[in-house]
Amino acid sequence: MKKTRVRFAPSPTGPLHLGGLRTALYNYLLAQKYKGDFILRIEDTDQKRFVPGAEEYILKSLNWCGLTPDESPYHGGKYGPYRQSERRSIYKPYFRHLVKEGHAYYAFDTAEMLDKKRKVFESQGNTFSYNAQTRLQMDNSLSLTAQEVTSRLEKGDQYVIRFKTPADNQILEMYDEIRGEIKINTATLDDKVLVKSDGMPTYHLANIVDDHLMEITHVIRGEEWLPSLPLHWLLYEAMGWKMPYFAHLPLILKPEGGGKLSKRDGDRLGFPIFPLQWKDPQSGVLNRGYREVGYFPEAFINMLALLGWNPGGEQEIFSLKELIDLFSLDRVGKSGARFSKEKAQWFNQQYLQKKPLTELIRLFQQELKKYKVNNSTQRYNRKVVESVRDRASFVHDLWEKAYYFFMPPLQYDPKAFKKAWHKESFYILKNLTADLSKWEDFNACILKKHLRDFAATQDLSFGKLIQSLRLALVGDLQGNDIFFIMEMLGQKETIKRIEQLIQRAPQ
Ligand code: GLU
Repeated sequence: MKKTRVRFAPSPTGPLHLGGLRTALYNYLLAQKYKGDFILRIEDTDQKRFVPGAEEYILKSLNWCGLTPDESPYHGGKYGPYRQSERRSIYKPYFRHLVKEGHAYYAFDTAEMLDKKRKVFESQGNTFSYNAQTRLQMDNSLSLTAQEVTSRLEKGDQYVIRFKTPADNQILEMYDEIRGEIKINTATLDDKVLVKSDGMPTYHLANIVDDHLMEITHVIRGEEWLPSLPLHWLLYEAMGWKMPYFAHLPLILKPEGGGKLSKRDGDRLGFPIFPLQWKDPQSGVLNRGYREVGYFPEAFINMLALLGWNPGGEQEIFSLKELIDLFSLDRVGKSGARFSKEKAQWFNQQYLQKKPLTELIRLFQQELKKYKVNNSTQRYNRKVVESVRDRASFVHDLWEKAYYFFMPPLQYDPKAFKKAWHKESFYILKNLTADLSKWEDFNACILKKHLRDFAATQDLSFGKLIQSLRLALVGDLQGNDIFFIMEMLGQKETIKRIEQLIQRAPQ
C-alpha cells in the first residue's frame, strides 16, 4: 500500500485561524495514524496578499500544538522546495503540457476588454462568465488563428493561461470522503486562470501539481475549497494523474450558529480566534491567542479535534495518542460545528484538574514571578494550590483565587465593604486584634473555636465577625475558608491586615 502523505497548505496571508489549525490537526492525526508523512507547504503564489511574519506565525502555532511537520521549508524533505514561490520553474512543463494537449489556452484579453464585456452583459441583465459559451467571442488562442497567436506571443503581448472546461454539458461525478458523491454539470463552470500574466501559476495549478509531485494521498482542507474541487478534479483528469482522496472539512460556526466563526465573533464574545498572539503589521493591533489566554496546548487540541469530528460514545477527553488511534475521516461531520467559549474553557479546566500537583505548583510559581512574589516556600505554595485548584480553569485563576495568600488587599471591594463594615466594626476589630495577639496556636481548628468564643463574649453575630475579618484579610467577601487563611498568613500578618483595615476605614 502507498504510504499516507498529507499536507497542510496555508497561504501566508495572515495569522492562522482556529479553522486552519483544525485542518492542520486532522491532517496530522491521519498521517500519524497510518504512520505516514505530514507536510507543511507554503502556498505563496499570490505575492500581493503576502503578509510579513505570517509564515513564521504558522510554524510557531504548529509547534505550540505539537504538530511538527515531517517535511516543510524548515524541516526539509526530498520533495522540496516546500514554498511555492521557490517552485516557479517546476510548474512550466505542466502548463505547457496542458496547452499542448488542448486542455488550456492562452488568453490575451486586457483588463479593459474584460470590463467592457462585463458591462455589455450587465446591460442585458446577465452576468459575464469566461466559459465554454463565451470563450470564442474573446481574444484567445481558441478564437485566433495559430499564426495570430504565434505573432502575439512573439511580440510579447501579455497573456494568461486559462483552463478549457469540457463544453459538453458533462455531469462530473466526484467523491469526497466526508460528503460522499458530488455531481456537477460542467456547463456551470468557468475557464479559470491557471497561469497569471506575470508567469506565476495560480493556486489551482500549483496546488494540484505540488500534490501530485509530493505524492499526496489525501487532500484534507476546509469546506471553502469545495467550489474548487471540480476544477481540480478536471485538472487531474486532464493530466492523467491518479486522484488523491479529497475531504472537505465542515466550517466552524459562530457560537449562535448561522455562519462561519470570524475574528469579529471572538472580539464580540471575548475569546481568541488565533492560537498565538498576533500583532497586525499594518494596524499594530495586538490580538491575544489561546496560549496567552492561558490554554494548555493539549486542551486546545482536544477541544479543536472534537469541533467537527465525533468518535462516538461519551468520552470527551482524549490524549493526542488517543486522538491518533481513533481518528478517521468517516466520523467527520458534514454540517458545521458550533464553537463554544464555555466548552473550550471546560476542556482547559479538565486538563488543569488532571495535572500532577507538582506540575501545577511549578506553573503557579511562574505565575507568582509575574507578580514579583518570590519569598514563599514550596510548602506554602503547595498548600495554596491544593486549596484553590478545584475552582480553577486556568493557571491564572489560581492566582486570582489565591492572591491574598501572598499580599495584603490593595483595596477593598466597595460592595463587600458596604456589606461587611458596620459602625461597630471598628471596635470589634480593635478588640479582636488585642485578643488575637494573645492566641498562641494559630491553627485553623483552634482559631475557629477562639473566634466563636470571642463572638460569644462580645455578644456578636459570628457571621458578621467573619465577614469583617474576611474583608480585612482578603479585601472581598470571597475566598477560602477564613480559618485556613488565618493559619496560612500567621498571627503577625493577620493582625497587620486587620489594623490596615481599621486605619483605612472611615470611622
Ligand atoms: N492555500 C490554500 C489555503 O490557504 C490551501 C487549500 C488546499 O489545502 O488545497 O488554505
